[in-house]
Amino acid sequence: MNKIPLIDLPLQYQRLKKEIDPVIKRIIKNGDFILGEDLRMFEREFARYCGAKYCCGLSSGSTALDLALKAIGIKTGDQVICPTLTFTASAAAIANLGAIPVFIDTNPITYNLDKNQIAKKITKKTKAIIVVHLYGQITDMDEIGEIAKKYKLKIIEDAAQAHGATYKNKKTGFWGDIACFSFYPSKNLGCFGDGGAIVTNSSKIAKTIFLLRDHGRTSKYSHKLVGYNGRLDNLQAAILRIKLKYLDIWNENRRQIARYYNSNLSSIYTIPQTFPKSKHVYYTYTLAHKKRNLIISMLASNGISSAIYYPIPLHLQEAYSNLEYRKKDLPVAENICKNIFSIPIYPEMTEKQIHHVVTVLNKIANNIKNA
Ligand SMILES: *Cc1c(COP(=O)(O)O)cnc(C)c1O
Repeated sequence: MNKIPLIDLPLQYQRLKKEIDPVIKRIIKNGDFILGEDLRMFEREFARYCGAKYCCGLSSGSTALDLALKAIGIKTGDQVICPTLTFTASAAAIANLGAIPVFIDTNPITYNLDKNQIAKKITKKTKAIIVVHLYGQITDMDEIGEIAKKYKLKIIEDAAQAHGATYKNKKTGFWGDIACFSFYPSKNLGCFGDGGAIVTNSSKIAKTIFLLRDHGRTSKYSHKLVGYNGRLDNLQAAILRIKLKYLDIWNENRRQIARYYNSNLSSIYTIPQTFPKSKHVYYTYTLAHKKRNLIISMLASNGISSAIYYPIPLHLQEAYSNLEYRKKDLPVAENICKNIFSIPIYPEMTEKQIHHVVTVLNKIANNIKNA
């Protein structure tokens, strides 16, 4: 059996080559690179896909978070609540504005942020909550919505791992004031480089972000705001338009693989749990086991890729050491980070590959038990 990667982008490209190549050629031929027609069309299509009024294409998921926080008015000294178990960009967006990330521990069942920890961290300076839909599952949003309403906090959804996921049949973008997406190549919807977007139902927020991403420009020479260069390339938007047509099928394939993993690994490993009203899109399939490090080295020697999302929670990263968190401050996350690992899951995986992963994981578990 050949090596099994975490994701097979060359194979995905081979299947779409006939559609993608002519579109790339057309754009190069026309020189339509910046703020072009495909970007406008993609924004319309992705907003419709998410069930949101507005979409603004951006240069990355990190830029989406940066501009989202800026657009809702986060500034120096403000506090923003953020899960500690996430990618650094979720919190970097807060810190880069001079605001303070207030880290929250993890729900031990779903690995999303523990909503019961939010209220006790709210102070007069708290302005917003970043809700990360980790691994492809929307957090159960009802109570978080109520907390936000009660304390007048904005909600930013970090949906970089959750394109197409639903909670109570509503996609990301419905649940917050604004939702941020990444189109990094490995994401459920990925382009051929860096890319991102926000969706929102607020015309005010959308207008501000459209300005911020293009140097605050209202016309070629008039700058209403101090802005950024945060645009999504027209080429990337054109590729995303093609891939968006397949996103629901791909997500369904991921769910099918997850179902097979669930039913064949649950007796030995802690498998991912889904909320009853949630439709998971399995950006990662993340398991837990006390002997995690041994398992991933044995997977590697069997040619199966794996990864750890994430081995160190953000409150213990050097980058945030000025916030002076200590070990055991957020014990659930710290414990989870020692045990979790993610195994291959991508739409093009063959049945043979899926069976092989399960066989090897069961073999490893037996070896550990008998060792
Ligand atoms: C990928 C990711 C980001 C950042 O997106 P980029 O496009 O790489 O900048 C932010 N948050 C989460 C949770 C992510 O997984």
